Amino acid sequence: MAWLSWAVDDPAPAANAGYFTGGAWVIPQEVDAAQKAGAVIHSAAGNWNPPGYKPSDLMRSRGNSWDATIMLNGEVWRHRPRPTFCNWHAGGPAQNIALCGFEMEGTGPWTAAQKASIVRVIEETWAYFGWARFVMAGPTNKTQEGIRQAILAIGKGGAYEHDWLDYTSCPNGRDDWAWLTPAAIAAIAEEADMTPEDMTELKRYMTEQVLAIKRDINEFTTSQVLAIESRLAARLDALSPSAAVDIVAVAQAVRAEFERDPLK
Ligand SMILES: [Zn+2]
Repeated sequence: MAWLSWAVDDPAPAANAGYFTGGAWVIPQEVDAAQKAGAVIHSAAGNWNPPGYKPSDLMRSRGNSWDATIMLNGEVWRHRPRPTFCNWHAGGPAQNIALCGFEMEGTGPWTAAQKASIVRVIEETWAYFGWARFVMAGPTNKTQEGIRQAILAIGKGGAYEHDWLDYTSCPNGRDDWAWLTPAAIAAIAEEADMTPEDMTELKRYMTEQVLAIKRDINEFTTSQVLAIESRLAARLDALSPSAAVDIVAVAQAVRAEFERDPLK
């Protein structure tokens, strides 16, 4: 399954992942998806200036790594091809194995563009792992065992602050839970509603629309039918897996398109 395929790619240092101790990988650089349980929403407490100064440059100088950065202008920078790496962003292995890390650029309140993007990142990440719920977590006792137990208790789909897991000032009060929690819940609910059955239903409905157009216009040649089908396929492919789908609106748009350009 694709993850943030539309984002700017800025690979994190390959070596900044997993745990290598005593000549062996205690934790691999990329873990099984079943080991992930949620995400930490960090504050970068500063700004980048690409291309001269990118998030991966900071990872290289600080010896850390995280999954994605949400820039002030709403751009999302993806640092791994999948959200299954064990990045070094939240302290010890208990949190780094189980939780993805997202950095919010800047020092002040999240910008409107950042809000839109963090919800999109959460929606795609939750969909990637099949988490259907978004749970605002809470402080842990910051020991590795305590963190492990807290993550288990919260379950899949937990969202965390760095300072709930580690001795740090991050996210400096910037995590806007009052705004994020309902926004993420709504987005994930919409996403979860788009089941394979819904996709089948969408295709059925759109095929019906095409057949109705065929009845209206009559006498399609084989090449015209193929053209209709390829347009329909293009419409279906263009549907973002993270976007809410209004089946009727999509079908009406396809029909309007055929009416404007009836395949002479
Ligand atoms: Zn942090």
